[in-house]
Amino acid sequence: MESARSVFISKPYSIALSLSVVLKLATTIAFSILLIFTLLSVPVTQAYLSPEHEPKEILFTSEMQINLVVVGDEWSEEDEQGISSRLLKSYKPMILNENTPIGVEYKYNYTFVSAPEFFATQLYTFMKTVAIDVEMPEPVARWVVSEHPEFGDVQQIAYRIINAPEVEEFLSRSWPMEDEYTIFFFLPHEDELNYLHTYGMLTTDPDTDAEFLQEGMMGFGGSYRFYFIDLTAGPWTYPPMSLFCEDAENPLCDQVNHVKNKNIHDISSAEEIYDVMSEYVNNAVTLLFTPSYVYSPFYRINHELSIFLIDFTAERALVNTDQYINSELIDEAFSNLIPYAEWTSNVISLNFDDLPEDLQETFLNSIEFRSIEGSEIIIVKSDELIDGLDKWALGELTEEELNELRMEAETRIFIPVFIFIFDSEAYVDEYGLGGIAASSPVDPSIPCCTIIASNKNDVLFTGQGLSVLTIHETAHVLGLAHPHDGYRSDTGEFVDWFYDWSYTPLTYSAPTANGCGLDELCGMIIPDFGRFNFDAIDRGLALSLLNEAQLNVYDAVLLLDDLGYDSPDLPSEIISALNSIESDVQGARQHFNSMNYFNYITFRDTSNLMNPMDDAFDFALRAFETSEQLLRDVKSLESTITKPTPQLDISVTIKQTEKLTLISVQNNDELPLFGVKLNLEDGLIKFVKTRGWDRDRIDQNTVIVSTDDRPITAGKSLKIILISDNPNGSLEWSVLSKAGNELGKGVS
Ligand SMILES: [Zn+2]
Repeated sequence: MESARSVFISKPYSIALSLSVVLKLATTIAFSILLIFTLLSVPVTQAYLSPEHEPKEILFTSEMQINLVVVGDEWSEEDEQGISSRLLKSYKPMILNENTPIGVEYKYNYTFVSAPEFFATQLYTFMKTVAIDVEMPEPVARWVVSEHPEFGDVQQIAYRIINAPEVEEFLSRSWPMEDEYTIFFFLPHEDELNYLHTYGMLTTDPDTDAEFLQEGMMGFGGSYRFYFIDLTAGPWTYPPMSLFCEDAENPLCDQVNHVKNKNIHDISSAEEIYDVMSEYVNNAVTLLFTPSYVYSPFYRINHELSIFLIDFTAERALVNTDQYINSELIDEAFSNLIPYAEWTSNVISLNFDDLPEDLQETFLNSIEFRSIEGSEIIIVKSDELIDGLDKWALGELTEEELNELRMEAETRIFIPVFIFIFDSEAYVDEYGLGGIAASSPVDPSIPCCTIIASNKNDVLFTGQGLSVLTIHETAHVLGLAHPHDGYRSDTGEFVDWFYDWSYTPLTYSAPTANGCGLDELCGMIIPDFGRFNFDAIDRGLALSLLNEAQLNVYDAVLLLDDLGYDSPDLPSEIISALNSIESDVQGARQHFNSMNYFNYITFRDTSNLMNPMDDAFDFALRAFETSEQLLRDVKSLESTITKPTPQLDISVTIKQTEKLTLISVQNNDELPLFGVKLNLEDGLIKFVKTRGWDRDRIDQNTVIVSTDDRPITAGKSLKIILISDNPNGSLEWSVLSKAGNELGKGVS
């Protein structure tokens, strides 16, 4: 173990990194932490104005039209009934890391359409022109021999791969659709597609020009608002069962099993075909059309991606980083995904030797060596890395610099990307994981950064560049999930590999997938986002802005409560702001119904006020901006008003033992107390504890203990234990409302 380690620490710390690079690293890291604190959100309470403004989990329901088009056959009335009865009628996409809904409930309307015969003929004729003869792959040959000897001699059966993107383009040209999602089921007559087949595509790594082959697809889509499923294609297993699913008891294996990816040849009854088709529809709807999210998307006008490429290789192999990663390409992908934000990304190469010593140590502390089947691998432990970098960055920055960052956090999102390149096989957190969208150590529901570990051989020799990997992982940071990872209230979280067959950088590409030899590059390597991604991110960001707006409204209303306002006597500008936000939420809902999530040409940002309000995002953004203004107005109202400071009837007794100070706060009044602030003027507070409450250190002399949900109610009391270096110092206390306003104070 020592030998590998010595490889990269053998050289002494030589040339220091330029100060600006260190500062860049420190600010980027510190920024992602600060963002986390600004995001920590708001709770629930009991007050006079507030209940009607309490944040709602589901902001609105939205109708959605789904067309089910059969090509080459006709839906009968029995078909429609058989399938309809098995389809999801409604669905709430989730934020998987929070286990909460994103904020909308879809109600699906399904329409069954039988494509005219001439369309079927055109399609199947076209498919012949984009099909190539290949040798029958091993898994299909096994299937023919064991399940369908009636097909004849395997050696004699024709087998073809049809170009999936070409078929997708054909459908988009010849079947116009816009305000709906569509699933095409291909059911060709035997004379129309009289050979065994699957679909495939060839993609090229933009960094290395290496070609990746995806074959075995039974369906495809993602560039437009439709997906096609060929019920005569396949069957196929992806990823290969032999690698992932030896354990038949594992429920995941059952889900991934090719039995689920049946084709028409293996289906014998009408009931069974209804089961299969409805399952395909339900999964396409929940995974592709209205998918769940890994994290909640979060909108700010500026995005900055700082990609730190850290070369740990002995020879410092990545001399010329441009060959492996392309920041222009990354910018382009994200500018297409979220064109209503500014994107800048830059690649910063860091030679391990040149890093400051304390930073080298931080990196080394997050690396572990493991031996797997005789070979040594490296694991980058994300928790240790983020924790260590946090501490390091905060130590590098002055209080002033941190404050500046806090200001910037209001309009800018920084996403740090750490890419580690080693001489040997390397993963993040666990064997097999090449990269992760890491979450904040403070709050797992908030993303922090992208972490990637790679073996130099993958990059230099097998042709897996770093741009698409960076785009994939960073898309998770922005909220997007894999097309195969889903959630349903009936099944919980689930995996369906069928839907990795879609146009998005969020699929997997790997050197060892099904149907390829071990040395070939399989899967898809797609550097840009498609229609399913655009829709998911537009909706996610609109909903996230609306969520932020309702939290702002709630904050404002809590403050108004504290200021003693009652509904009837609110200032008129506040009433009109509240009404305007409510009507913008409804505006957004209407555009959701017509699937008009975002219109690039008429994007109505604050500098383009002449543009019409013509999509869901415009309304969500305006609701958010109004809510920010509302909150500012209410806060300024707070400072101008001579508050009827409700000096409540509260008694505080303080007992001093040898080491401890025991504080007892007794509430003899009606209003519940949610916090106690303690300030020891002439001493340092070393420790404070209150059972079931949170604590927050303001500075060396000041702490606040508080709760969201267990206030000191009328007649009740609370004990606080405090340890300081001056037990005889004078202790100032104040008690706080839900919104953090002072309700009473004293000194003892
Ligand atoms: Zn992923």
